[in-house]
Amino acid sequence: MQGYPRIKGPKSVHDRIAIIGAGPSGLHMAYELKKRGFRNIVIFESRDEVGGKTTSRLYRNVWVDLGTVGLTESYDKTVDLLEKFNTGFEVRPTLPGATWLNRKEYRPTTETIPVPIERIQQASQRYTVLHQCFFGTYDSELMPRPSPEILRKIHGSIEEFLLRYNLTDLQPIFYTAITLNGYGFLNETSAIYGLTFVTPSVVQSFLRPERGAYRLFGGWQNLCREIARRSNVDIRLNINIKRINRKNGVQIVYGKKHSGQTYVDDFDFLILTPAMNSLFKVVDFNQHELSIFSHLRNSFYLKSVINSISPGRRSFSPLDTYLYDFQNVEYSVYRTVNPHQLENNITGVDYQLGLRENVDPDGSQYETSVYVQTGKSNPWKPDVDAHIQTKLFEHLRDFKKSNPQVVEQVKWGYYFPNFPPEAATGGALWDVLDMQGHYNTWYIGSSVCFDAIESVFEYNYLILKLFA
Ligand SMILES: Cc1cc2nc3c(=O)[nH]c(=O)nc-3n(C[C@H](O)[C@H](O)[C@H](O)COP(=O)(O)OP(=O)(O)OC[C@H]3O[C@@H](n4cnc5c(N)ncnc54)[C@H](O)[C@@H]3O)c2cc1C
Repeated sequence: MQGYPRIKGPKSVHDRIAIIGAGPSGLHMAYELKKRGFRNIVIFESRDEVGGKTTSRLYRNVWVDLGTVGLTESYDKTVDLLEKFNTGFEVRPTLPGATWLNRKEYRPTTETIPVPIERIQQASQRYTVLHQCFFGTYDSELMPRPSPEILRKIHGSIEEFLLRYNLTDLQPIFYTAITLNGYGFLNETSAIYGLTFVTPSVVQSFLRPERGAYRLFGGWQNLCREIARRSNVDIRLNINIKRINRKNGVQIVYGKKHSGQTYVDDFDFLILTPAMNSLFKVVDFNQHELSIFSHLRNSFYLKSVINSISPGRRSFSPLDTYLYDFQNVEYSVYRTVNPHQLENNITGVDYQLGLRENVDPDGSQYETSVYVQTGKSNPWKPDVDAHIQTKLFEHLRDFKKSNPQVVEQVKWGYYFPNFPPEAATGGALWDVLDMQGHYNTWYIGSSVCFDAIESVFEYNYLILKLFA
């Protein structure tokens, strides 16, 4: 493929391949390698289930996603996989949401956009031309390495990029796609992530009636479970990897949770999927690898599933955004979703007053909603955790949720592992691509492309094309 490096990989289909992580990228890579004839694949997973950040749980007969939720128009590879591994999925445009201006007043989210639609349309055309001039047409997650001159032109944050090219009218779209998905504020996230995730076609789709945003019904983790089932590779769960040495081949030293025994297995090739900055104590990274991966940074993301007596204070939509504290108060609740009402398309007065609360077969009078918080301080630290729980319960009180019970709370570490502007403009993403295979290792998953399910699938296909 023009403009990309050729990539080294496993030398023969008989090579023993170790994949670390049974999230979407690891499972998908195993499936694709198996299709290409590789037979000796073992996946090592630290948790007791497959799926990584796609965890889904069935509550009150509805799949509630504790990780991955939405799709945009650009998710063609994901949609192909959903069709291929269909276990009853349905993809629908997201229902119109509400944005709370303070604890009492809300507006339809579309009415809170501060820029007239015509100006967004004009800016979107300029963005399309600029994107084409900078990167041409490419059919992958990552465009071929741009020249140093282009990298200079896209240096800095998304906000700086939009200002530099008179594109600030697109700010609401980038804010929705990047900031509201936990990918950082526009003045801190590198422009390159905006340019790769929010492509011109994604921007244009926001201007269409469905607003370019879709949701999967059926549980994202079920996609992963199905890929795991059909690829039929050896997946070892509850693994605690102590060390990975790559002196002669690949040696994996590991234990099993709840067992004191240490095991050592030898492989010919290694595929790493977790955030590379989470592996510094595990993998014998060399100076070259460390010189790139040590720049990575990440945030944290929390979802709490909470039952409370229905309805409390509600807008007209089961999909709410709260922006009044979001910018200034870390871990303020900034989004809530009521998956049950969302799946049943219950909006307007019916939703607001809880008039169709008991349509589910269990007849429960509770609402089950998901509360979303994000931040940069480590949520496992006791003081940070105390702050998180305080913010959560303040929110529940403000919105008059009675008798709230936390059904489940998930803290995601290493959310959006990303290169800050300087490293990104220095070409870190392409440095990783150039390094693929050199040390008997492929680096895949969110930290080397972008933390979205389509991105990690696309990146796998790119690696496999460059390897072929
Ligand atoms: C709350 C949340 C919401 C999201 N929403 C969306 C969305 O709406 N749309 C979207 O496209 N994407 C979304 N994402 C991102 C998407 O889920 C990820 O991009 C995707 O799961 C990345 O897949 P992965 O395989 O690279 O990594 P992961 O899913 O993180 O999987 C990595 C796996 O490696 C395992 N692992 C880690 N370290 C080790 C170790 N040392 N040893 C063994 N195993 C290890 C982990 O347990 C995990 O199973 C969301 C993520 C979160 C957390």
